[in-house]
Parts: sequence; structure tokens; C-alpha cells
Amino acid sequence: MSTLEFAGEVERWSRPGGAFEPTLLTAHDEAESFPAEACAALDGWGLPAYYVPTRYGGRLARLEDVHTLLRTVAARDMTVAVAHGKTFLGAASVWAAGDGGPMSLLARHVLAGEAVAWGLTEPDAGSDLLAGTLTATRNGSGWRLSGRKWPVNNATRGRFVSVLARTDPAGGPRGFSLFLVDKRATAPGSVRHLPKMPTHGIRGADISGIEFVDARVPSHSLVGTVGGGLELVLKTLQLTRVTCVALSLGAGDHSLRIIRNFLGERRLHGRPLSDLPHARAVTGRAVARQLLAEAVAFTAARAAHEIPQELSVVSAVTKALVPTLVQGQLRLIGELLGARSFLTGVEGYGGFAKIERDHQIVSVFDGSTWVNRSALAATLPLLRPGRRPVAPAGLPAHEWLREDHEPAALDPLRLGVLARGDSILGGLGGLVARLSADMPDGTASLAARLLDAYADLDARIAGVGATTGSPTTAAMRMAERYEWCFAGAAALALWAANPQHHDHGWWRDGGWLAGCLALVLEGLGVRPPEASAVFNRLGSLLLTPEGDRVGLLGRPAGVPA
Ligand SMILES: Cc1cc2nc3c(=O)[nH]c(=O)nc-3n(C[C@H](O)[C@H](O)[C@H](O)COP(=O)(O)OP(=O)(O)OC[C@H]3O[C@@H](n4cnc5c(N)ncnc54)[C@H](O)[C@@H]3O)c2cc1C
Repeated sequence: MSTLEFAGEVERWSRPGGAFEPTLLTAHDEAESFPAEACAALDGWGLPAYYVPTRYGGRLARLEDVHTLLRTVAARDMTVAVAHGKTFLGAASVWAAGDGGPMSLLARHVLAGEAVAWGLTEPDAGSDLLAGTLTATRNGSGWRLSGRKWPVNNATRGRFVSVLARTDPAGGPRGFSLFLVDKRATAPGSVRHLPKMPTHGIRGADISGIEFVDARVPSHSLVGTVGGGLELVLKTLQLTRVTCVALSLGAGDHSLRIIRNFLGERRLHGRPLSDLPHARAVTGRAVARQLLAEAVAFTAARAAHEIPQELSVVSAVTKALVPTLVQGQLRLIGELLGARSFLTGVEGYGGFAKIERDHQIVSVFDGSTWVNRSALAATLPLLRPGRRPVAPAGLPAHEWLREDHEPAALDPLRLGVLARGDSILGGLGGLVARLSADMPDGTASLAARLLDAYADLDARIAGVGATTGSPTTAAMRMAERYEWCFAGAAALALWAANPQHHDHGWWRDGGWLAGCLALVLEGLGVRPPEASAVFNRLGSLLLTPEGDRVGLLGRPAGVPA
């Protein structure tokens, strides 16, 4: 079955008696119990095959497919998406290491439905991976692991766990190695599960931890090279960060469906709530946030194939910006829903509070917004186009963002730890010039102002010297501005790449593009006078039959409230 049929299947599972029936998922949330039925349905459908690259027998050929699938699941229930999708995150480091490691073994087990956890964090180390104290020491031809990883999603339920361990007591960038541990192949008592942690959101997920007590693992558990663990993790995180933002898109889909229903049925002061100009403008702003998030997420998924050498920048921007956009979207929708955003028992609206709770985790795990922004800030001096123009490494973004473009094969070996340029934002000037004669009314002036803002940012970055320490607050602010500029460039490239859509749905008259550019300019502190009209238009469009689906590419996620 293809990704196209998946949404229909999830829709069927959501009917009474199905594994995704909302009352069943709500009951799991309230009881803090694992949504096993839904995960089993996903296994039965064959979702794990999309976590395994085709070269190892799976169906993972395009990252955008994993996006579509996880987005569809998250649009029903974030806990299920987090619980199931974690296997992709746990396994990705093994694929990223290239041939020669335990990939065949892992592929076989993932295809059979075994879950894989991703064990990076330690109680006393948090985001500081270099501070990790879980140790691996040589034991004959194999290794012995001692220490804790916590908190870790699926640490208890997962049969496998990818573990970053200190292999050189002195630590440092070459002092860590990565291991794929098959818990069933360890001696009794040498691997202990830490208790499930009660959580604010995704309450049914297995958020626990794992402790290794002199656990012996064979030599083939080593993933990559001795001392190469940190570099491998940093490269893998680029793939997982790009992928996990699909969870945000799903949360956005779900909440927009709820607000659409609300605006369709709520009457106040003798008229529909949707007649209030403010309600339409706020809704339009929420829609624009979703569409901009999709434009960035899709660009990032394609970038993983086409410009992997730049993915350190693209993934940092994506992981910092997309969850933030959707979190802001949820805030706007929550305000509009009023009491119904808070009351969990009102039919049709009770699910909103859960979405809001669940979504908060996306900006925390796999590198927080700050961690990603900080990584971007540290790279800024390298990214100034004035400093070092990026030689086009292949096709420009507006070519490889064509919906019908066949992306280059995923090649993790082309990932780099530090990008030396950014061809997406670096290409903004050329793209605006190329589009200028052929832009819908109103969007050309928004694009011109984006270009001005980018030139201003470029000049500010010129004042930042390269530093090895933590970025200053000023550099963090610049990184945030960089994210907005990047998002605007991605939206323009997506627009230029897909003229076949220009007369349809959200694309008509440049509606979504204008909304995204207005949002970007606002993020940059520019207040375009046309913003209200642009958001009003998007808000009105949400209430038409076409508003049934807020999306730019692919097929509907099909999510009832
Ligand atoms: C529900 C849940 C599931 C999780 N699942 C997993 C999992 O499966 N595997 C796993 O390994 N971990 C997992 N984690 C851990 C998660 O990735 C950590 O929260 C993360 O590693 C950060 O650690 P910390 O929260 O202790 O924050 P800290 O690292 O202690 O950070 C504290 C604050 O400082 C900020 N900060 C940290 N570094 C920087 C920096 N360089 N620049 C600027 N600001 C910075 C952070 O954003 C945060 O606000 C999970 C956590 C939760 C809550």
C-alpha cells in the first residue's frame, strides 16, 4: 500500500471500534497507558518499512514520504506518532554510518516491527553530549557498558537502543562511540529499565530510561568507528531534526480542522463568529503559520537528498523554526476557541487541550529551539554570502523543489558537521530577480522588502567575528532573523518551482505566498501594511470547501476534529 492510501486507512481506523478511535486514544492519555492498538495497526500496515532505507530492504527512498506518514499519524494523535516514529530516530544513526555495521541485523528487526530507542541524554548532561558519562570499555573483542540514559522515549518497550558512550575517559570530540544494543542479547540483570516518567503531554508514551550495569555487548554492536560517535550523532541529528518536524505539521493540521469547525458553527451577537474581521485575520495568521511551516519542512526534506552538505544549517533552521511556528499557531487558535480550548469534555473541541500539551515536546527533544539556534548562531560568520559566495553544487532549490522532481538518493556519507554555505538563502537575490516579472499582485513588494531585510542582516552578520565560545544574545537574535529570512527564501523557491499549482487552492493569486511573506516580514520586525488584508483572505479561504485541507503539496491529511 502506498503513502497515498495511508490517510484513508488511518481514517478507517478512527471509526468506532478502530485502533485510532478518539475515545480510545483519549482513554489511553488519561490512564497514561501506551496506545498499543494504534501502534500495532501501524505495524500491520507496514509503517516500519518506511524507517528502513530501500538498500537494506525497506521503503525509505524519500524523506518526504516519512514526513507525510508521520504527519498523518500526528494529525490524529501525537502520542502515537511519537511512540511509533521514534524507531526512525533510533535507527537513523545506523543508516547514517554507512555499510559495514549492524544495518542488516537492524533492518530485519525493524521490518519485523521491533522498536528502537535513541539514547543520547543523561540525567546530569542534558543537551551537553560531551558531558556524557555512560562508559563503554573493551571486553575481549566486545564492549562493556555502564551508566544511564534518561529520559528516553521507548527505553523500556524498545528492543534496541542506540547509545552514545564515552570510550575515551578523557572524552572530547573523539572520545565517544555509538553502539546499537540489542537488549535481548545482554545478560540478565545487566540492563535495567528506569520507571516511566509522568509527563505533561504525550502521557501514554513510554518516557523512561535505561541503566547498563557492566552490560556486555558484542563487537558488532559498534556503529561507525571507535571515537566517531559524536560526529555520527551530529550528522544523524540533521536527518532526525528534519523528520521530527512532521509532528508539528500534524498538530497544526488537527488544530486547524478544529478551528474551522468552530468558526463554521459558532454564532455570537446574532451572527457567525467568522463574520468578525478579527476572527478571520487571526485564523488567517494561523493558516499562514502552518503553510510556512510546511514550506520550510518540505524544503528541508528535499535538501537532505539534494544538498546534504548544507543540512547542518537547514536542519538547525527547520528544527528551531517549524515547532515555534506551530506553537504560535496553537496559541492563536486557542485564543479564538476561548473556553473550548480549556474544557476537555466538550464534544468536538475537547481534543484541543491535548494537542497543545502534546506539541510542546517537539521543541524540546532532538535538540531544543535554543540548541539549534545556538548552533546556527555559531555558524553565521560562515554563512554570509558576501564572505564566501556559495558555488552552486547542483541544481538550484527552485528546480529540486518541483513536486514531480525525483530527488537524489539519500546519501548520509555526504552529510557534513559544518556547512560552509547556504544555497537556499544565498540564492534569494537571484530568485527574486528571476521571479520579478511573474509574481502575483502584492507579492513582489513583499519579496523586495524581504530582500532588504536580508541585506540588513547580512551587514549585521559582517560585524560578528568567528568565536569558539557560546554565541552572544545578539548573535542568537541574528540567528532568529536568519531563520525568518531562510523561511521566506524557501517559500519563494517552492512557489517558483511549482507553477502547475498557481491556479489552484491556497496557491491561487499567490495567497499562501503572500501570507508566508507577510509573516516572515513581521518576524523580522517589518510591519507590511497589506498584512491584515492578506491574512483576512487566508482566513476566509479556510471557511470555503477548499479550506478542508490546509496544505501545499501531496494529498489531504484528512483529519476530523
Ligand atoms: C518527553 C521526552 C522525551 C525525550 N526523549 C528522548 C530520547 O528519546 N532520547 C534522548 O536522548 N533524550 C530524550 N529526551 C531528552 C531531551 O532531548 C532533553 O530534554 C534534551 O536533551 C535537553 O536536556 P534538558 O532538558 O535536561 O535540558 P538542558 O540541556 O539542561 O538545557 C537547559 C536549558 O538550556 C538550553 N540550552 C542547552 N544547551 C544550549 C545551548 N548550547 N545554547 C543555548 N541554550 C541551550 C536548553 O534549551 C534548555 O532551555 C526526552 C525528553 C522528554 C521530556
